[in-house]
Amino acid sequence: MFKERKRHCPLCASIAVNHKYHIDRYKLKFDVDRCSDCGFIFMNPLFTDDVIEEFYSEDYFRGQADYSYIDEREIKKYSQYVWNKRIDIIHKYAKEGNFLDVGCSFGGLLESASEYYTPYGIELSDYAFSHARKLFGNNIHHGTLDDHRFDDGFFSAITMIELIEHLPDPVSAVNQCFKLLHPDGVLVVQTANMNGKQARDLAGNYEYFMPGHLSYFTAKNLAMLLKTAGFSKIKIYYPVEFGLLPKLLKSRGSFKKFSDYTAWFRISSYHMKSKIHFGNFALTSSMVIYAVK
Ligand SMILES: [Zn+2]
Repeated sequence: MFKERKRHCPLCASIAVNHKYHIDRYKLKFDVDRCSDCGFIFMNPLFTDDVIEEFYSEDYFRGQADYSYIDEREIKKYSQYVWNKRIDIIHKYAKEGNFLDVGCSFGGLLESASEYYTPYGIELSDYAFSHARKLFGNNIHHGTLDDHRFDDGFFSAITMIELIEHLPDPVSAVNQCFKLLHPDGVLVVQTANMNGKQARDLAGNYEYFMPGHLSYFTAKNLAMLLKTAGFSKIKIYYPVEFGLLPKLLKSRGSFKKFSDYTAWFRISSYHMKSKIHFGNFALTSSMVIYAVK
């Protein structure tokens, strides 16, 4: 069920690792530790690989698992507002070439990416992989960043959208991405900023703590990891790299009745609040980091 408990911080190797929270609101209960040197929070001990594999079953995508994801195909028309906008911004960093989405799921972002790039994906879940494979054939690798067959320097852009928190070894993943990018290539990472006031106030009740999430970053220690890997330019966007409109348009995908539009007030207010940040302080916990090789 669990691997051996780590004594060192996986990010900075410090031994100043302290128990932070016991998360017991799911069937699978777990503990997270925090490194007091770099602030990295991580599941410790980690679930064994066979437990982690179960997270990516069909149930996970259909929303029947204890902790699940929306099947993006059901709201595809709406999600495309966000995907297209994201690709437009990535395009400012990398004009053309090969594009890799790590954790490409059903391939939605890749469909938008094919406007400018040759799309490639990596997907662990059998269920999502078989769908992405139908769209992009052999360009989709079934597995992880540890067992792919892509050449070093092959990509001009790599995205890890809400992926890095799922990885047991994010340091090796970032190093892999660095190798896979050609000079001037860009890596885009979206994950929660655990230093945001939103995450700190909610503590162990923060919804980001779920059994599928193994690694929890802050803007500062994620930027540190990227710099250590060799990236030369880092830009952090709060809450995301695009404006409010694509988010509002996307949200309509989950609306069932007219009164659901009141959610736009909540989404707008969250977006505006997320703009409040200075130094290491941020009001909410959303961020996207662009790192240029
Ligand atoms: Zn550390």
